[in-house]
Amino acid sequence: MITVKNPGQVARMRAAGALLHEVLQTLAQAVKPGITTASLDRMAEEMIRSCGAVPSFLGYDGFPASVCTSVDDCVVHGIPSEKEVLREGSILSIDCGLILDGWQADSALTVPVGEISEKDRKLIEVTEQCFFAGAFRARSGATLGDIGAAVQQLAESHGYGVIHDLTGHGIGREMHEEPSVYNFGLPGHGQRLCAGMTLAIEPMIAMGDWHLTEDDDGWTTRTRDHSRCAHYEHTLVITEEGPPEILTLPGYQWKEQQHGTDSL
Ligand code: MG
Ligand code: MG
Repeated sequence: MITVKNPGQVARMRAAGALLHEVLQTLAQAVKPGITTASLDRMAEEMIRSCGAVPSFLGYDGFPASVCTSVDDCVVHGIPSEKEVLREGSILSIDCGLILDGWQADSALTVPVGEISEKDRKLIEVTEQCFFAGAFRARSGATLGDIGAAVQQLAESHGYGVIHDLTGHGIGREMHEEPSVYNFGLPGHGQRLCAGMTLAIEPMIAMGDWHLTEDDDGWTTRTRDHSRCAHYEHTLVITEEGPPEILTLPGYQWKEQQHGTDSL
């Protein structure tokens, strides 16, 4: 069942989103060669708990940490480790979620570790653009297919692979609610959107082929061809008119020309 949130509930999700934005910015700024992914996890948990929130990933289906740290060819669900020291030239996806006052926020981004190649920088930038292209179409009266098609068209126009096996999702009291939000699709197809729906849109884009493989730990998900992958996610609410409010990017203002149909 898809739940539609009322303005009071959206306000609480906005507060959760603002806190998660702060946490992720702090983590992103701490990333540098020589630190461990476990140190990022500790930083996230401390910050979340000190603000009266709860890390939603910790214990979710048995996941052992408060953030997912996914390096290079790891797409998602990388487990932070004391043994994993970040190296110059890597790219790191940080995915984090929290619960504040009973309401969830979920967001992810990919950051460079020190100096990275031009190719990797472009992958990160295009993945972010894919999010904005999809999210721009997440409006009352549009469909989930409109979102997926926009993400897919932009990613594939750069020769990248759109991960098909992992999706965005509805979000609210639960981290994962209906519907699934695919990063591919056909305009005009799928679930129709209405104001008050809250979604996590999260393109996962591979430099090469999109097929996946899982490590023996049962979590770490990689591209089968070991091409590098970037991830960019925000929690947002569909509004009565125009593009959505991005709850995990407080104060974000849409620029029509930048994400309009003519750019696709
Ligand atoms: Mg996430
Ligand atoms: Mg998510």
